[in-house]
Amino acid sequence: MPVVAVIPEPDSPVELREVPRPELEPDSALLEVELSEVCGTDVYLQQGRLKGVPYPLIPGHVSVGRLTKIRGQLLDVHGNAFREGDRVTFLDVHRTCNACWYCLVAKASTRCPQRKVYGITYGLADGLCGGWAQELYLKPGARCIRLDAEPELFMAGGCALPTALHAIERAGLSIGDTVLVLGSGPVGLNAIIMALLRGALRVLCIGAPEHRLQSALAAGAAHVLNIESASESERLEWVRDRTEGRGADVTIEATGAPIAVVQAMRFTRDAGRVVIVGQYTDHGAVPAEAAFNPHLDLNQKHLDVRGCWGSDFSHFYRGAQLVADPVHAQRWSNIKLDCYDLAHANEALAAVASGAVLKALIDPRR
Ligand SMILES: [Zn+2]
Ligand SMILES: [Zn+2]
Repeated sequence: MPVVAVIPEPDSPVELREVPRPELEPDSALLEVELSEVCGTDVYLQQGRLKGVPYPLIPGHVSVGRLTKIRGQLLDVHGNAFREGDRVTFLDVHRTCNACWYCLVAKASTRCPQRKVYGITYGLADGLCGGWAQELYLKPGARCIRLDAEPELFMAGGCALPTALHAIERAGLSIGDTVLVLGSGPVGLNAIIMALLRGALRVLCIGAPEHRLQSALAAGAAHVLNIESASESERLEWVRDRTEGRGADVTIEATGAPIAVVQAMRFTRDAGRVVIVGQYTDHGAVPAEAAFNPHLDLNQKHLDVRGCWGSDFSHFYRGAQLVADPVHAQRWSNIKLDCYDLAHANEALAAVASGAVLKALIDPRR
């Protein structure tokens, strides 16, 4: 029986369990997991800070592996059949219905109420539905993407890659824009890469700690500022000094801190655009310091503020293409990875929570 890592309930350490292999339904498959991801969302899952999560659960939403068993037919978007032995990743979002009002009328499938996410809203009761496991069950309708890239390279982008790609899509950049990225974690780093790909003249990044800012520079940021060494007014001045006194054309918030949303608005020029992608967790009532002035910070600024929720197949697909391309792939080769085996999942979570590592991965083969 495959070994899996399980969060039994909120605020409990991860433990190892054995889970029986499922009876494969028609047009489903088993995946032997090569690498899965440990991201900030998993830290919040372990702390019980996400709503609608069915504990116990196997974490790990974005994963790479090999198809070991296919029942029926599994096709890629080109109509080609997958074979046993193929290396794939898959869209962690499952069951987007393509039949509801959000899918069909609003064309906002990431808000489809039917969708389930591997490693987040699928629990252990749903079977082998998380990547921190030796094997994972690809239920009928799971969308696989053939992966020609090295698994490490794809996972250097991980879930942050499609997330950032979606955010930059929402940002509607113009060629030559100056983009400010708040946050230097995985989403922030991927946002820097994507903004440059999308035509930004330069990217500024405010974040911490120092080793992540070095990664931001390696990802292509022109200037970085350590948030721990500058007050809010000093940060505003730093941005304005680099933007003819106006502020950034576009700001991407990728921090997770509610107060950063207000700062994103203030650091952006009049008639600019702000994309909020870092607020995946509900921090509850807005703290007083995160309040904003509707007149000064929004209306008078003629500001365009957009939320960005989740990602869809197109973001995964485009991300996989980029890392499989030898020219583009090198952008992710500087992102440092720290691998843990299943038995050390708690150490991996702690390292991500403290910011000691940039990107932690689970390698269930170790
Ligand atoms: Zn739907
Ligand atoms: Zn994630």
